[in-house]
Amino acid sequence: MADTVKRTILVTGGSRGIGRAVCLAFAAAGNRIFFNYSSAAAAAQETEKLVADAGGRATGMQVNVASEKEVSDFVGRALEETGRVDVLVNNAGITKDGLIVRMKESDWDAVLDVNLKGAFHCIKAVSKPMIRQRSGRIINISSVVGVTGNPGQANYVAAKAGIIGLAKGIARELASRGITVNVVAPGYIETDMTASFPEKARQMMIDQIPLGHSGTPQDIAAVVAFLASEQAGYITGQVIHVSGGMYM
Ligand code: NAP
Repeated sequence: MADTVKRTILVTGGSRGIGRAVCLAFAAAGNRIFFNYSSAAAAAQETEKLVADAGGRATGMQVNVASEKEVSDFVGRALEETGRVDVLVNNAGITKDGLIVRMKESDWDAVLDVNLKGAFHCIKAVSKPMIRQRSGRIINISSVVGVTGNPGQANYVAAKAGIIGLAKGIARELASRGITVNVVAPGYIETDMTASFPEKARQMMIDQIPLGHSGTPQDIAAVVAFLASEQAGYITGQVIHVSGGMYM
């Protein structure tokens, strides 16, 4: 899997934020990228354009990762066109915050369905082709809070901790087939997901970051690209924290 060889890359939630930066990190090498999104069609088109401008080719598909059927169609489209899947990045995520005493069952289910079950569906769908190829890279985006906890986010924290368990289980299952499975745990990254934080909460968050500032989607994408590279071939089952030192 030399880095000069064009690869088929699947990215969930590629229309905005970290997912878009991940698509762009793979664009320069001329890879074939398939990404999905929930509803932001215009943003997805913008990702396609930015990837094309950078020399790659990306196709965005509206897919709910919580649906096994839709994920199967998404992976099927990539297989139909390229016959392989080299990299899967499970990035799609949502939050529905609230204190546990008031958290609605529907908010629990929605967050677990997208953030955790979505990753399960995608991993399951790429496993067969990757096993056949005897190669593959699966990279999952968790969060620092999946390790540290965070008040008001029981559903999100459970999903992000679950991603780590899921990745470790699958890493052991697929290692003998040349497939690596790792996790990137971002800290506080400037995207739409964090844009609605009130200024006071934002400053409190920054105060907890030893490096003293928030991260960028590119900080995360660089580590994802490394984990997908040939140089990272001997790394599996690991959680790489990219959080300015929020967790040590
Ligand atoms: P974002 O800007 O809100 O983007 C979320 C992406 O996920 C969008 O592309 C969205 O599509 C897609 N998505 C949402 N629900 C989906 C579904 N059901 N099926 C398919 N795609 C779906 O978020 P972000 O900040 O880039 O976060 C990306 C990942 O990093 C998430 O897993 C998040 O939990 C994690 N993370 C973020 C931070 C941070 O500080 N930002 C920190 C730690 C971890 P649409 O554009 O169509 O809505």
